[in-house]
Amino acid sequence: MSEPTVVVVGSGPIGAAYARVLVESVPGAKVVMFEAGPQLTAIPGESVRNIADPAEKKHAREISQGPQAGSLRESLGLPAGVAVEGMFTAREGTHLIDFGGEGSGHASSFPAAAASTNVGGMGAHWTCATPSPQFSERIPFIDDAEWDDLLTEAKKLLHVSSAAFADSAVGAGIRSLLEDEFRDELPEGYGPSTLPVAGDPQPDGSMRWAGSDVVLGPLIDPEAPESARFELHDLSLVTRVEVEDGRATGVTVEDLRTRETRFVPADLVVVAADAFRTPQLLWASGVRPTALGHYLTEHPVVISTVKVDADLIEQYATEADLDAEIARRSINPVDPVAAVNRIPFSEPNHPFSLQVMYAENPPFPLPADHPDADNRWGYVNMGYGTRKQPRFEDAVTFDDDEPDYRGFPNMTIRYELTENEEREIAAATERLRRAGRAIGKFIAEPRLLPPGSSLHFMGTTRIGVADDGTSVADPWSRVWGVDGLVVGGNGTIPTANTVNPTLMSVAVAVRGARKAAEALGA
Ligand code: FAD
Repeated sequence: MSEPTVVVVGSGPIGAAYARVLVESVPGAKVVMFEAGPQLTAIPGESVRNIADPAEKKHAREISQGPQAGSLRESLGLPAGVAVEGMFTAREGTHLIDFGGEGSGHASSFPAAAASTNVGGMGAHWTCATPSPQFSERIPFIDDAEWDDLLTEAKKLLHVSSAAFADSAVGAGIRSLLEDEFRDELPEGYGPSTLPVAGDPQPDGSMRWAGSDVVLGPLIDPEAPESARFELHDLSLVTRVEVEDGRATGVTVEDLRTRETRFVPADLVVVAADAFRTPQLLWASGVRPTALGHYLTEHPVVISTVKVDADLIEQYATEADLDAEIARRSINPVDPVAAVNRIPFSEPNHPFSLQVMYAENPPFPLPADHPDADNRWGYVNMGYGTRKQPRFEDAVTFDDDEPDYRGFPNMTIRYELTENEEREIAAATERLRRAGRAIGKFIAEPRLLPPGSSLHFMGTTRIGVADDGTSVADPWSRVWGVDGLVVGGNGTIPTANTVNPTLMSVAVAVRGARKAAEALGA
Protein backbone atom coordinates (compact mmCIF):
# COMPACT_ATOMS: atom_id res chain seq x y z
CA MET A 1 0.00 0.00 0.00
CA SER A 2 1.67 3.25 -1.01
CA GLU A 3 1.57 6.12 1.48
CA PRO A 4 -1.34 4.82 3.58
CA THR A 5 -3.43 7.05 5.86
CA VAL A 6 -4.14 5.97 9.42
CA VAL A 7 -6.79 7.65 11.57
CA VAL A 8 -6.25 7.45 15.33
CA VAL A 9 -9.19 8.33 17.58
CA GLY A 10 -8.00 9.65 20.96
CA SER A 11 -4.72 11.33 21.90
CA GLY A 12 -3.91 9.54 25.16
CA PRO A 13 -0.71 7.52 25.57
CA ILE A 14 -2.15 4.57 23.64
CA GLY A 15 -3.26 6.53 20.57
CA ALA A 16 0.13 8.23 20.72
CA ALA A 17 1.95 4.88 20.79
CA TYR A 18 0.09 3.71 17.66
CA ALA A 19 0.88 6.98 15.90
CA ARG A 20 4.57 6.84 16.77
CA VAL A 21 5.16 3.20 15.82
CA LEU A 22 3.20 3.51 12.56
CA VAL A 23 4.84 6.74 11.37
CA GLU A 24 8.28 5.37 12.21
CA SER A 25 7.83 1.95 10.67
CA VAL A 26 5.66 2.48 7.57
CA PRO A 27 7.45 4.56 4.92
CA GLY A 28 5.27 7.40 3.71
CA ALA A 29 2.41 6.58 6.12
CA LYS A 30 0.46 9.56 7.39
CA VAL A 31 -1.31 9.53 10.77
CA VAL A 32 -4.24 11.84 11.46
CA MET A 33 -5.22 11.93 15.13
CA PHE A 34 -8.56 13.27 16.34
CA GLU A 35 -9.11 14.33 19.93
CA ALA A 36 -12.49 15.40 21.29
CA GLY A 37 -11.03 17.66 23.98
CA PRO A 38 -8.94 20.82 23.92
CA GLN A 39 -5.15 21.11 23.84
CA LEU A 40 -3.97 22.10 27.33
CA THR A 41 -0.30 22.96 26.95
CA ALA A 42 1.93 24.49 24.28
CA ILE A 43 3.55 21.06 23.82
CA PRO A 44 0.62 18.78 22.93
CA GLY A 45 -0.10 16.08 25.49
CA GLU A 46 2.28 17.28 28.18
CA SER A 47 1.50 16.28 31.79
CA VAL A 48 -0.26 19.10 33.60
CA ARG A 49 1.89 18.22 36.61
CA ASN A 50 4.73 20.00 34.82
CA ILE A 51 2.85 23.31 34.79
CA ALA A 52 4.51 25.44 37.47
CA ASP A 53 1.85 28.14 37.79
CA PRO A 54 -0.98 26.88 40.09
CA ALA A 55 -3.71 28.93 38.34
CA GLU A 56 -2.62 27.68 34.93
CA LYS A 57 -2.53 24.11 36.23
CA LYS A 58 -6.04 24.43 37.68
CA HIS A 59 -7.34 25.86 34.40
CA ALA A 60 -5.78 23.00 32.41
CA ARG A 61 -7.44 20.48 34.71
CA GLU A 62 -10.81 22.19 34.51
CA ILE A 63 -10.99 22.31 30.74
CA SER A 64 -10.26 18.56 30.67
CA GLN A 65 -13.50 17.87 32.48
CA GLY A 66 -15.73 17.56 29.40
CA PRO A 67 -19.37 17.91 30.42
CA GLN A 68 -18.26 19.05 33.87
CA ALA A 69 -16.00 21.82 32.62
CA GLY A 70 -18.81 24.38 33.06
CA SER A 71 -18.16 27.93 31.94
CA LEU A 72 -14.69 27.10 30.65
CA ARG A 73 -16.27 24.67 28.25
CA GLU A 74 -18.65 27.39 27.07
CA SER A 75 -15.76 29.80 26.57
CA LEU A 76 -14.32 27.30 24.11
CA GLY A 77 -17.42 27.80 22.00
CA LEU A 78 -18.89 24.49 23.12
CA PRO A 79 -22.48 24.09 24.26
CA ALA A 80 -23.21 24.94 27.88
CA GLY A 81 -21.79 22.52 30.40
CA VAL A 82 -24.21 20.21 32.11
CA ALA A 83 -22.74 20.68 35.57
CA VAL A 84 -25.30 20.38 38.34
CA GLU A 85 -25.23 21.78 41.84
CA GLY A 86 -23.64 19.52 44.40
CA MET A 87 -21.95 17.13 41.99
CA PHE A 88 -18.38 16.07 42.55
CA THR A 89 -15.59 15.41 40.12
CA ALA A 90 -13.77 12.16 40.77
CA ARG A 91 -10.26 13.55 40.41
CA GLU A 92 -9.12 16.89 39.08
CA GLY A 93 -8.83 16.69 35.31
CA THR A 94 -11.47 13.97 35.03
CA HIS A 95 -15.25 13.93 34.68
CA LEU A 96 -17.61 11.30 36.00
CA ILE A 97 -19.46 9.04 33.58
CA ASP A 98 -22.46 9.40 35.91
CA PHE A 99 -22.25 13.17 36.47
CA GLY A 100 -25.92 13.59 37.22
CA GLY A 101 -26.74 16.22 34.58
CA GLU A 102 -28.75 15.92 31.40
CA GLY A 103 -27.31 13.24 29.13
CA SER A 104 -25.32 11.71 31.98
CA GLY A 105 -24.39 8.02 31.91
CA HIS A 106 -25.79 5.65 34.55
CA ALA A 107 -23.27 4.08 36.89
CA SER A 108 -24.71 3.79 40.39
CA SER A 109 -22.85 0.48 40.94
CA PHE A 110 -19.59 1.99 39.63
CA PRO A 111 -20.03 5.59 40.78
CA ALA A 112 -16.44 6.85 40.51
CA ALA A 113 -16.07 5.84 36.82
CA ALA A 114 -14.50 8.80 35.06
CA ALA A 115 -12.76 9.96 31.92
CA SER A 116 -10.61 12.88 30.76
CA THR A 117 -11.38 14.84 27.59
CA ASN A 118 -8.30 16.72 26.45
CA VAL A 119 -5.20 16.32 24.34
CA GLY A 120 -3.20 13.65 26.17
CA GLY A 121 -6.32 12.10 27.73
CA MET A 122 -5.93 10.80 31.28
CA GLY A 123 -2.25 10.66 30.45
CA ALA A 124 -2.08 14.42 31.03
CA HIS A 125 -3.27 13.90 34.62
CA TRP A 126 -1.93 10.51 35.66
CA THR A 127 0.40 9.65 38.54
CA CYS A 128 2.84 8.06 36.06
CA ALA A 129 3.30 4.78 37.98
CA THR A 130 4.57 2.28 35.43
CA PRO A 131 5.38 -1.10 36.98
CA SER A 132 5.41 -4.17 34.70
CA PRO A 133 2.84 -6.96 34.78
CA GLN A 134 4.04 -10.13 36.54
CA PHE A 135 3.01 -13.80 36.80
CA SER A 136 -0.68 -14.27 35.82
CA GLU A 137 -1.12 -10.54 35.25
CA ARG A 138 0.48 -11.03 31.84
CA ILE A 139 -1.70 -12.02 28.91
CA PRO A 140 -1.08 -15.78 28.59
CA PHE A 141 -1.02 -16.04 24.79
CA ILE A 142 1.97 -13.67 24.52
CA ASP A 143 5.13 -15.56 25.46
CA ASP A 144 7.58 -14.26 28.04
CA ALA A 145 10.32 -13.36 25.56
CA GLU A 146 7.89 -11.25 23.56
CA TRP A 147 6.52 -9.64 26.74
CA ASP A 148 10.01 -8.62 27.74
CA ASP A 149 10.62 -7.11 24.31
CA LEU A 150 7.25 -5.29 24.25
CA LEU A 151 7.72 -3.93 27.76
CA THR A 152 11.21 -2.69 26.90
CA GLU A 153 9.78 -0.79 23.94
CA ALA A 154 6.85 0.53 26.00
CA LYS A 155 9.24 1.78 28.70
CA LYS A 156 11.25 3.61 26.05
CA LEU A 157 8.12 5.25 24.63
CA LEU A 158 6.94 6.36 28.09
CA HIS A 159 10.40 7.42 29.36
CA VAL A 160 10.13 5.05 32.32
CA SER A 161 12.61 5.65 35.07
CA SER A 162 13.10 2.76 37.50
CA ALA A 163 15.11 4.62 40.09
CA ALA A 164 12.98 7.73 40.54
CA PHE A 165 13.59 9.32 43.93
CA ALA A 166 15.95 6.42 44.75
CA ASP A 167 18.24 8.93 46.46
CA SER A 168 15.54 9.93 48.97
CA ALA A 169 16.86 8.82 52.37
CA VAL A 170 13.37 8.90 53.86
CA GLY A 171 12.07 6.87 50.90
CA ALA A 172 14.83 4.30 51.53
CA GLY A 173 13.95 4.27 55.23
CA ILE A 174 10.30 3.53 54.39
CA ARG A 175 11.42 0.62 52.20
CA SER A 176 13.51 -0.78 55.05
CA LEU A 177 10.58 -0.58 57.49
CA LEU A 178 8.33 -2.42 55.00
CA GLU A 179 11.08 -4.95 54.36
CA ASP A 180 11.31 -5.67 58.12
CA GLU A 181 7.54 -6.24 58.24
CA PHE A 182 7.06 -8.39 55.13
CA ARG A 183 10.46 -9.97 54.39
CA ASP A 184 9.49 -13.53 55.29
CA GLU A 185 6.40 -13.79 53.11
CA LEU A 186 7.49 -12.39 49.73
CA PRO A 187 9.44 -14.23 47.01
CA GLU A 188 13.00 -13.16 46.18
CA GLY A 189 12.97 -10.05 43.98
CA TYR A 190 9.37 -9.07 44.83
CA GLY A 191 9.91 -7.17 48.07
CA PRO A 192 9.61 -3.42 48.67
CA SER A 193 11.27 -1.39 45.94
CA THR A 194 11.10 2.00 44.25
CA LEU A 195 8.10 2.36 41.96
CA PRO A 196 9.03 2.85 38.30
CA VAL A 197 7.50 6.07 37.01
CA ALA A 198 7.20 7.67 33.59
CA GLY A 199 9.28 10.81 33.57
CA ASP A 200 12.68 12.34 33.12
CA PRO A 201 14.61 13.16 36.30
CA GLN A 202 15.99 16.69 36.04
CA PRO A 203 19.44 17.81 37.21
CA ASP A 204 17.87 19.78 40.11
CA GLY A 205 16.28 16.58 41.50
CA SER A 206 12.77 17.36 40.24
CA MET A 207 10.90 15.26 37.68
CA ARG A 208 9.51 16.19 34.27
CA TRP A 209 6.47 13.92 34.20
CA ALA A 210 5.67 12.10 30.95
CA GLY A 211 2.46 12.29 28.97
CA SER A 212 1.50 11.64 25.35
CA ASP A 213 4.08 14.29 24.44
CA VAL A 214 7.04 11.98 25.07
CA VAL A 215 5.31 9.07 23.35
CA LEU A 216 4.69 11.18 20.25
CA GLY A 217 8.33 12.37 20.43
CA PRO A 218 9.53 13.37 16.93
CA LEU A 219 5.95 13.49 15.61
CA ILE A 220 5.41 16.80 17.46
CA ASP A 221 8.92 18.16 16.97
CA PRO A 222 8.65 20.60 14.03
CA GLU A 223 12.36 20.08 13.33
CA ALA A 224 11.93 16.31 12.89
CA PRO A 225 11.01 14.99 9.41
CA GLU A 226 8.44 12.61 10.97
CA SER A 227 6.32 15.59 12.03
CA ALA A 228 5.38 16.21 8.38
CA ARG A 229 3.45 12.91 8.42
CA PHE A 230 1.47 13.56 11.60
CA GLU A 231 -1.56 15.76 12.25
CA LEU A 232 -3.31 16.28 15.56
CA HIS A 233 -6.74 17.91 15.57
CA ASP A 234 -8.12 18.86 18.97
CA LEU A 235 -11.81 19.60 19.66
CA SER A 236 -12.63 17.06 16.95
CA LEU A 237 -15.18 14.44 17.92
CA VAL A 238 -15.25 11.22 15.93
CA THR A 239 -18.93 10.30 15.79
CA ARG A 240 -18.70 7.13 13.71
CA VAL A 241 -16.28 4.61 12.27
CA GLU A 242 -17.56 3.97 8.75
CA VAL A 243 -17.62 0.30 7.74
CA GLU A 244 -18.38 -1.01 4.25
CA ASP A 245 -18.44 -4.69 3.28
CA GLY A 246 -16.68 -5.72 6.49
CA ARG A 247 -13.90 -3.15 6.20
CA ALA A 248 -13.37 0.17 8.02
CA THR A 249 -13.15 2.90 5.38
CA GLY A 250 -12.59 5.93 7.60
CA VAL A 251 -14.34 8.06 10.20
CA THR A 252 -16.94 10.78 10.42
CA VAL A 253 -15.64 13.62 12.52
CA GLU A 254 -17.29 16.75 13.87
CA ASP A 255 -15.22 19.90 14.33
CA LEU A 256 -16.49 21.13 17.70
CA ARG A 257 -15.43 24.71 16.93
CA THR A 258 -17.33 25.08 13.66
CA ARG A 259 -19.87 22.25 14.11
CA GLU A 260 -18.94 21.04 10.62
CA THR A 261 -18.94 17.32 9.97
CA ARG A 262 -16.76 15.57 7.40
CA PHE A 263 -15.74 12.08 6.34
CA VAL A 264 -12.03 11.27 6.56
CA PRO A 265 -11.01 8.17 4.57
CA ALA A 266 -8.39 5.84 6.06
CA ASP A 267 -6.63 2.59 5.32
CA LEU A 268 -6.59 1.79 9.04
CA VAL A 269 -8.67 3.15 11.93
CA VAL A 270 -7.31 2.85 15.46
CA VAL A 271 -9.81 3.60 18.24
CA ALA A 272 -8.02 4.44 21.50
CA ALA A 273 -10.74 6.49 23.13
CA ASP A 274 -10.65 4.90 26.64
CA ALA A 275 -12.32 1.82 28.11
CA PHE A 276 -15.83 3.32 28.01
CA ARG A 277 -15.83 5.50 24.92
CA THR A 278 -14.02 3.02 22.66
CA PRO A 279 -16.78 0.40 22.97
CA GLN A 280 -19.38 3.20 22.81
CA LEU A 281 -17.99 4.46 19.49
CA LEU A 282 -17.87 0.92 18.09
CA TRP A 283 -21.46 0.32 19.23
CA ALA A 284 -22.58 3.62 17.68
CA SER A 285 -20.89 2.54 14.44
CA GLY A 286 -22.80 -0.75 14.35
CA VAL A 287 -19.74 -2.81 15.30
CA ARG A 288 -21.13 -4.97 18.10
CA PRO A 289 -19.19 -8.14 18.99
CA THR A 290 -20.89 -10.03 21.85
CA ALA A 291 -18.13 -9.17 24.35
CA LEU A 292 -18.17 -5.43 23.54
CA GLY A 293 -18.33 -3.49 26.82
CA HIS A 294 -18.40 -6.69 28.91
CA TYR A 295 -15.79 -8.22 31.26
CA LEU A 296 -15.23 -4.80 32.85
CA THR A 297 -12.56 -4.93 35.54
CA GLU A 298 -10.62 -2.43 37.62
CA HIS A 299 -8.56 -2.49 40.79
CA PRO A 300 -10.59 -2.32 43.98
CA VAL A 301 -8.47 0.04 46.07
CA VAL A 302 -7.99 0.24 49.85
CA ILE A 303 -6.20 3.41 50.92
CA SER A 304 -4.96 5.11 54.07
CA THR A 305 -2.72 7.96 55.20
CA VAL A 306 0.01 7.53 57.77
CA LYS A 307 2.12 10.05 59.68
CA VAL A 308 5.74 8.91 59.53
CA ASP A 309 6.96 8.13 63.05
CA ALA A 310 10.27 9.77 63.92
CA ASP A 311 11.46 6.93 66.18
CA LEU A 312 10.72 4.29 63.55
CA ILE A 313 12.28 6.09 60.58
CA GLU A 314 15.31 7.24 62.55
CA GLN A 315 16.48 3.63 62.59
CA TYR A 316 17.26 4.17 58.91
CA ALA A 317 17.54 7.91 58.21
CA THR A 318 19.13 10.75 60.14
CA GLU A 319 18.00 14.32 60.86
CA ALA A 320 20.77 15.48 58.51
CA ASP A 321 19.33 13.27 55.72
CA LEU A 322 15.95 14.87 56.32
CA ASP A 323 17.37 18.41 56.22
CA ALA A 324 19.07 17.68 52.90
CA GLU A 325 15.88 16.20 51.54
CA ILE A 326 13.68 19.12 52.62
CA ALA A 327 16.14 21.51 50.95
CA ARG A 328 15.98 19.50 47.71
CA ARG A 329 12.17 19.35 47.75
CA SER A 330 11.84 23.10 48.27
CA ILE A 331 13.22 23.56 44.74
CA ASN A 332 9.97 22.29 43.28
CA PRO A 333 7.17 23.14 45.71
CA VAL A 334 4.36 22.59 43.17
CA ASP A 335 5.03 18.87 42.96
CA PRO A 336 4.36 17.44 46.40
CA VAL A 337 5.57 13.85 45.86
CA ALA A 338 8.97 13.18 47.43
CA ALA A 339 9.39 9.42 46.93
CA VAL A 340 7.40 6.51 45.57
CA ASN A 341 7.75 2.94 46.78
CA ARG A 342 5.79 -0.23 46.25
CA ILE A 343 5.45 -3.90 46.96
CA PRO A 344 4.61 -5.53 43.61
CA PHE A 345 2.18 -8.31 42.76
CA SER A 346 3.60 -11.81 43.25
CA GLU A 347 2.21 -15.30 43.41
CA PRO A 348 1.12 -17.29 45.27
CA ASN A 349 0.93 -15.17 48.42
CA HIS A 350 0.78 -11.54 47.35
CA PRO A 351 -1.79 -11.05 44.57
CA PHE A 352 -1.90 -7.34 45.40
CA SER A 353 0.18 -4.29 44.74
CA LEU A 354 1.00 -1.72 47.37
CA GLN A 355 1.81 1.83 46.30
CA VAL A 356 3.41 4.13 48.87
CA MET A 357 3.62 7.83 48.06
CA TYR A 358 5.78 9.81 50.46
CA ALA A 359 5.05 13.55 50.70
CA GLU A 360 5.71 16.47 52.97
CA ASN A 361 2.00 17.10 53.64
CA PRO A 362 -1.03 14.84 53.94
CA PRO A 363 -3.30 14.77 50.86
CA PHE A 364 -6.06 16.52 52.83
CA PRO A 365 -5.72 19.63 55.01
CA LEU A 366 -5.29 19.09 58.77
CA PRO A 367 -6.16 22.03 61.07
CA ALA A 368 -2.98 23.75 62.31
CA ASP A 369 -3.73 22.74 65.93
CA HIS A 370 -4.29 19.07 65.02
CA PRO A 371 -1.84 16.90 67.01
CA ASP A 372 -0.66 15.21 63.81
CA ALA A 373 -0.32 18.38 61.72
CA ASP A 374 3.03 19.65 60.59
CA ASN A 375 5.04 16.46 60.98
CA ARG A 376 8.65 17.17 60.03
CA TRP A 377 9.18 13.59 58.83
CA GLY A 378 6.16 13.84 56.51
CA TYR A 379 3.34 11.50 55.58
CA VAL A 380 2.67 8.52 53.37
CA ASN A 381 -0.43 8.08 51.35
CA MET A 382 -0.63 4.41 50.56
CA GLY A 383 -2.99 1.97 49.04
CA TYR A 384 -3.38 -1.62 47.99
CA GLY A 385 -4.73 -2.35 44.53
CA THR A 386 -6.50 -5.71 44.37
CA ARG A 387 -7.86 -7.92 41.58
CA LYS A 388 -11.26 -8.10 39.93
CA GLN A 389 -11.98 -11.37 38.16
CA PRO A 390 -13.48 -10.75 34.68
CA ARG A 391 -17.16 -11.72 34.34
CA PHE A 392 -19.53 -11.14 31.42
CA GLU A 393 -22.07 -9.57 33.82
CA ASP A 394 -19.80 -6.64 34.73
CA ALA A 395 -20.33 -4.38 31.76
CA VAL A 396 -20.95 -1.06 30.16
CA THR A 397 -23.98 -1.35 27.86
CA PHE A 398 -25.39 1.17 25.41
CA ASP A 399 -28.93 2.35 24.77
CA ASP A 400 -29.77 3.30 21.16
CA ASP A 401 -32.93 5.08 22.34
CA GLU A 402 -31.30 7.39 24.90
CA PRO A 403 -28.66 9.81 23.62
CA ASP A 404 -25.97 10.95 26.04
CA TYR A 405 -24.67 14.53 26.25
CA ARG A 406 -22.62 13.97 23.07
CA GLY A 407 -25.46 12.30 21.17
CA PHE A 408 -24.02 8.78 21.55
CA PRO A 409 -26.07 5.76 22.72
CA ASN A 410 -25.98 6.34 26.47
CA MET A 411 -23.96 4.19 28.84
CA THR A 412 -25.12 2.11 31.76
CA ILE A 413 -22.47 0.41 33.88
CA ARG A 414 -23.33 -2.67 35.93
CA TYR A 415 -20.67 -4.01 38.26
CA GLU A 416 -20.50 -6.19 41.35
CA LEU A 417 -17.82 -7.49 43.66
CA THR A 418 -18.05 -11.22 44.38
CA GLU A 419 -16.73 -13.36 47.25
CA ASN A 420 -13.44 -13.68 45.39
CA GLU A 421 -12.86 -9.96 45.50
CA GLU A 422 -14.22 -9.51 49.03
CA ARG A 423 -11.72 -12.10 50.29
CA GLU A 424 -8.75 -10.44 48.60
CA ILE A 425 -9.85 -6.96 49.69
CA ALA A 426 -10.02 -8.17 53.31
CA ALA A 427 -6.54 -9.68 53.05
CA ALA A 428 -5.15 -6.48 51.49
CA THR A 429 -6.78 -4.35 54.22
CA GLU A 430 -5.08 -6.45 56.88
CA ARG A 431 -1.73 -5.98 55.15
CA LEU A 432 -2.33 -2.26 54.86
CA ARG A 433 -2.84 -2.09 58.63
CA ARG A 434 0.48 -3.87 59.13
CA ALA A 435 2.26 -1.62 56.62
CA GLY A 436 0.85 1.51 58.29
CA ARG A 437 1.86 0.40 61.78
CA ALA A 438 5.35 -0.41 60.49
CA ILE A 439 5.79 3.19 59.28
CA GLY A 440 3.91 5.28 61.83
CA LYS A 441 0.42 6.27 62.89
CA PHE A 442 -2.76 6.25 60.80
CA ILE A 443 -4.31 9.66 60.34
CA ALA A 444 -6.79 8.14 57.88
CA GLU A 445 -7.68 4.50 58.58
CA PRO A 446 -7.71 1.97 55.71
CA ARG A 447 -10.89 2.22 53.69
CA LEU A 448 -12.22 0.71 50.47
CA LEU A 449 -12.84 3.37 47.81
CA PRO A 450 -16.09 3.35 45.81
CA PRO A 451 -16.03 1.19 42.65
CA GLY A 452 -14.41 3.03 39.74
CA SER A 453 -11.95 4.94 41.93
CA SER A 454 -8.84 3.23 40.55
CA LEU A 455 -9.36 4.92 37.15
CA HIS A 456 -7.86 1.70 35.74
CA PHE A 457 -10.76 0.44 33.65
CA MET A 458 -10.05 -2.72 31.71
CA GLY A 459 -11.57 -5.58 29.74
CA THR A 460 -14.30 -3.82 27.74
CA THR A 461 -12.58 -4.38 24.38
CA ARG A 462 -10.52 -7.37 25.49
CA ILE A 463 -8.25 -9.28 23.15
CA GLY A 464 -8.47 -13.06 22.87
CA VAL A 465 -7.40 -16.02 20.78
CA ALA A 466 -10.78 -16.95 19.28
CA ASP A 467 -13.86 -15.16 17.99
CA ASP A 468 -16.03 -17.05 20.47
CA GLY A 469 -17.95 -14.22 22.14
CA THR A 470 -15.45 -13.75 24.98
CA SER A 471 -13.27 -11.17 23.24
CA VAL A 472 -13.70 -8.13 20.98
CA ALA A 473 -10.41 -8.32 19.11
CA ASP A 474 -7.74 -10.81 18.12
CA PRO A 475 -4.31 -11.13 19.80
CA TRP A 476 -3.09 -8.13 17.73
CA SER A 477 -6.06 -5.96 18.79
CA ARG A 478 -7.81 -6.24 15.38
CA VAL A 479 -11.57 -6.17 15.90
CA TRP A 480 -13.12 -9.51 15.01
CA GLY A 481 -15.04 -9.38 11.76
CA VAL A 482 -14.00 -5.88 10.63
CA ASP A 483 -10.84 -5.44 8.57
CA GLY A 484 -8.81 -2.30 9.10
CA LEU A 485 -10.17 -1.60 12.59
CA VAL A 486 -7.96 -1.83 15.69
CA VAL A 487 -8.76 -1.06 19.34
CA GLY A 488 -6.25 0.26 21.86
CA GLY A 489 -6.16 1.05 25.56
CA ASN A 490 -6.78 -0.58 28.91
CA GLY A 491 -9.99 -2.08 27.52
CA THR A 492 -7.84 -4.59 25.61
CA ILE A 493 -6.43 -6.15 28.83
CA PRO A 494 -8.21 -9.46 29.50
CA THR A 495 -6.51 -10.58 32.75
CA ALA A 496 -7.32 -10.06 36.45
CA ASN A 497 -4.40 -8.01 37.69
CA THR A 498 -3.28 -5.28 40.04
CA VAL A 499 -0.65 -3.57 37.92
CA ASN A 500 -1.14 0.08 36.92
CA PRO A 501 -2.27 -0.63 33.37
CA THR A 502 -0.78 2.03 31.12
CA LEU A 503 2.63 0.46 30.51
CA MET A 504 0.92 -2.85 29.75
CA SER A 505 -1.54 -1.21 27.36
CA VAL A 506 1.29 0.59 25.57
CA ALA A 507 3.03 -2.82 25.23
CA VAL A 508 -0.16 -4.32 23.76
CA ALA A 509 -0.38 -1.30 21.44
CA VAL A 510 3.20 -1.79 20.25
CA ARG A 511 2.28 -5.38 19.37
CA GLY A 512 -0.85 -4.24 17.52
CA ALA A 513 0.98 -1.44 15.73
CA ARG A 514 3.79 -3.73 14.56
CA LYS A 515 1.25 -6.15 13.09
CA ALA A 516 -0.70 -3.29 11.46
CA ALA A 517 2.54 -1.89 10.05
CA GLU A 518 3.19 -5.21 8.28
CA ALA A 519 -0.22 -5.04 6.64
CA LEU A 520 0.37 -1.41 5.61
CA GLY A 521 3.60 -2.32 3.91
CA ALA A 522 6.33 -1.68 6.47
P1 FAD B 1 -6.94 8.17 27.61
O1 FAD B 1 -5.67 8.68 28.16
O2 FAD B 1 -8.13 8.20 28.48
O3 FAD B 1 -7.25 8.98 26.28
C1 FAD B 1 -8.40 8.75 25.52
C2 FAD B 1 -8.73 10.02 24.74
O4 FAD B 1 -9.70 9.72 23.76
C3 FAD B 1 -9.32 11.14 25.61
O5 FAD B 1 -8.53 12.29 25.52
C4 FAD B 1 -10.69 11.37 25.00
O6 FAD B 1 -11.10 12.73 25.01
C5 FAD B 1 -10.51 10.87 23.59
N1 FAD B 1 -11.78 10.50 22.95
C6 FAD B 1 -12.78 9.75 23.47
N2 FAD B 1 -13.77 9.61 22.58
C7 FAD B 1 -13.40 10.29 21.48
C8 FAD B 1 -14.03 10.52 20.21
N3 FAD B 1 -15.19 9.95 19.91
N4 FAD B 1 -13.39 11.31 19.31
C9 FAD B 1 -12.16 11.86 19.59
N5 FAD B 1 -11.54 11.66 20.79
C10 FAD B 1 -12.15 10.88 21.70
N6 FAD B 1 -2.31 4.67 34.96
C11 FAD B 1 -1.15 4.09 35.29
O7 FAD B 1 -0.74 3.12 34.65
N7 FAD B 1 -0.40 4.55 36.33
C12 FAD B 1 -0.80 5.60 37.10
O8 FAD B 1 -0.07 6.01 38.01
C13 FAD B 1 -2.04 6.22 36.79
N8 FAD B 1 -2.48 7.24 37.54
C14 FAD B 1 -3.60 7.91 37.14
C15 FAD B 1 -3.99 9.04 37.88
C16 FAD B 1 -5.05 9.83 37.44
C17 FAD B 1 -5.45 11.06 38.22
C18 FAD B 1 -5.74 9.48 36.25
C19 FAD B 1 -6.86 10.33 35.73
C20 FAD B 1 -5.39 8.32 35.54
C21 FAD B 1 -4.33 7.52 35.99
N9 FAD B 1 -3.91 6.38 35.30
C22 FAD B 1 -2.76 5.74 35.68
C23 FAD B 1 -4.64 5.87 34.13
C24 FAD B 1 -3.94 6.33 32.85
O9 FAD B 1 -3.96 7.71 32.74
C25 FAD B 1 -4.61 5.64 31.67
O10 FAD B 1 -4.35 4.25 31.80
C26 FAD B 1 -4.12 6.10 30.31
O11 FAD B 1 -4.22 7.47 30.14
C27 FAD B 1 -4.92 5.38 29.22
O12 FAD B 1 -4.51 5.85 27.97
P2 FAD B 1 -5.49 5.83 26.70
O13 FAD B 1 -4.73 6.47 25.62
O14 FAD B 1 -5.98 4.45 26.50
O15 FAD B 1 -6.77 6.67 27.13
